Amino acid sequence: MLRRGDTVWCLDNFCTGDPENIAHLRADPRFHPVRCDVTEPLPVPGPVHAVAHLASPASPADYHRLPLETLAVGSRGTENALRLAREHGGRFVLASTSEVYGAPEVHPQPEDYWGNVNPVGPRSVYDEAKRYAEAVTMAYRRGPGVDAGIVRIFNTYGPRMRSRDGRVVPTFVRQALAGEPLTVCGDGSQTRSFCYVDDLVRGITAMIDSARAGPVNLGDPTERTVRELAELVLVVTGSASRIEYGPLPVDDPVRRRPVITRARDQLGWTPRVPLEEGLRRTVSWCAGRPAPPVRNAPS
Ligand code: UDP
Repeated sequence: MLRRGDTVWCLDNFCTGDPENIAHLRADPRFHPVRCDVTEPLPVPGPVHAVAHLASPASPADYHRLPLETLAVGSRGTENALRLAREHGGRFVLASTSEVYGAPEVHPQPEDYWGNVNPVGPRSVYDEAKRYAEAVTMAYRRGPGVDAGIVRIFNTYGPRMRSRDGRVVPTFVRQALAGEPLTVCGDGSQTRSFCYVDDLVRGITAMIDSARAGPVNLGDPTERTVRELAELVLVVTGSASRIEYGPLPVDDPVRRRPVITRARDQLGWTPRVPLEEGLRRTVSWCAGRPAPPVRNAPS
């Protein structure tokens, strides 16, 4: 957004983020980083042309560690962000998630599938917060007439993820680079579809620039098993690590793949970076970084 000349207010309490990730932007006079919690009133002066509400823990390890914060940012945080857009007559885009489909009984997942979510399971703090966030976004669109839209983001990866955030790509890359075993959960036959961060950013930007309501799935439709991913990480890193199999987390979705016809038709968006290339870029970024201390490891 800065590169194309926008002024950007970046609100983050860094409960799962790293200020280092935005350090390279600080010299730009149009960039305004604010350390704050978006569940509190938002300290943004006008004019505001668009609000992208991306704030939330997103790694299962993080939202298990921060369950109440995750529910709060999906509910109060979304309401605050919607109010900001309403006050300034701006566009609003909610970063929702493929987790609204829960353990999907329809495969692949189109946007008109309503999902299969366990409302009292360990993942519900994230899934139900995002489902509420979608509901309140649509209510602000229908009622006060906020120009609001929803994107549902599928598994995304790339540089600047914390190596110990618990998600599968940074975990496997860290383990492979350290020569440690890659910890596959279950037998590794569960699938995900991994989208490279630059592709995702293009999709979100296209949604901000459109007047579409969505929801629009943003994800790479190439489905891989977790075991295939582990093998690919070993190839890309050239690591001699072995693969180790452990227990599958409760309610871990068995299959996940987006239908992206809507993104293609409404936003002209398709992902461009194949998994192997995206992993290469991620690995070279991670390889240039010192290993973080173990005490940051999610429980
Ligand atoms: N996973 C794994 N090993 C790990 C971390 C995750 O096998 O060290 C699996 C996890 O059980 C899930 C998939 O990888 O089936 C994706 O997990 P992640 O936490 O990245 O995202 P999710 O799609 O579950 O939100």
